[in-house]
Amino acid sequence: MSWQVEPADTYRRPEERPTRRIEGFAVAGGVWATAVPFPSPLAYSYSYALRYPDGIVVVDLGWDSDEAWQAFVAGLARAGACLDEVKGVVVTHAHPDHYGLASRIREHTSAWIGAHPGERAQIRVGEAERGDRLAEIADWLRECGVPRSLLAELDGELRALDSVLPSVEPDVELHDGVPVPGTGGALVPVHTPGHTAGHLCFRERERNMLLTGDHILPKVTPNVARRPGSDPDPLRDFLASLARLHRFADPGTVVLPGHEWPFDSVSHRADVLRRHHDDRLAEVESAVARGCGTVWEVAQAVSWARDFSAFTPRSMRSALAETSAHLMRLGEGGRIRRSGGQPERWTVAAR
Ligand SMILES: [Zn+2]
Repeated sequence: MSWQVEPADTYRRPEERPTRRIEGFAVAGGVWATAVPFPSPLAYSYSYALRYPDGIVVVDLGWDSDEAWQAFVAGLARAGACLDEVKGVVVTHAHPDHYGLASRIREHTSAWIGAHPGERAQIRVGEAERGDRLAEIADWLRECGVPRSLLAELDGELRALDSVLPSVEPDVELHDGVPVPGTGGALVPVHTPGHTAGHLCFRERERNMLLTGDHILPKVTPNVARRPGSDPDPLRDFLASLARLHRFADPGTVVLPGHEWPFDSVSHRADVLRRHHDDRLAEVESAVARGCGTVWEVAQAVSWARDFSAFTPRSMRSALAETSAHLMRLGEGGRIRRSGGQPERWTVAAR
């Protein structure tokens, strides 16, 4: 079977056909991207298969469902490969839309699975660890000041979350700058904490590619969340990680994200995201100055792409975590102050 390679311009602009269901695309250099479906407005995440002399290394997996697994296996076939050829899997981070198929990989292949050790906090092995995770999130919602009347609804959604919590421990720890095994030194992790504490991008040196997971996407602003398991000031980490990407500003570098579509100016996109967060910080600070004290109150006072009150419980949790990350950044920068207690409250710092 042949390895499909198509010219770069065949995959550049799928956003022009946003409703078209895609199965994946060939990337120049013998890389195949499989679109793995998952239940979200983003519709699918990408799993990238990269061929090396010793076999295939996969970057990111996808959601755990029968449909997703079928898409993953069919994508390998389109790449001219089969499951037995997959020698290793690396993940940008351990969210269910990138890591969910880890249990099926373990069941059906002998491939090793690699992730940054910072992702371990998201992986819960066994019932006790899973119960702890859900309890941590429930406590955190109270700390955010979510009204009692809504807590029951959010708790119900948490029970649904239990079924998708990642539960497979990786075999291999990946670290910044240390090449991925089985790639001849070509695939190198770049630690980019922010979206998650152990988030990795991967630099493919031979093919001049940068695989960015959810650290940087062409259109959607990645969620930067302060919640149980995150670093204490994830927005500081995220902004520093954006700055790290400027060294990959070579316009010839193909950027392969975890969702949406490939693009080619990582620096431009990093600048747009940095400005977005600057604006957001100003908006959050102004809400606190107007007397919004809890994460819940601030989240309702700032603007969102959709009406906050119409958010699903899952989107609401993301919005609270995003707001909390901005509050913490302002707090660490000395702009606002946090008082203890439950819920936590923020006020403008005296100057
Ligand atoms: Zn994702």
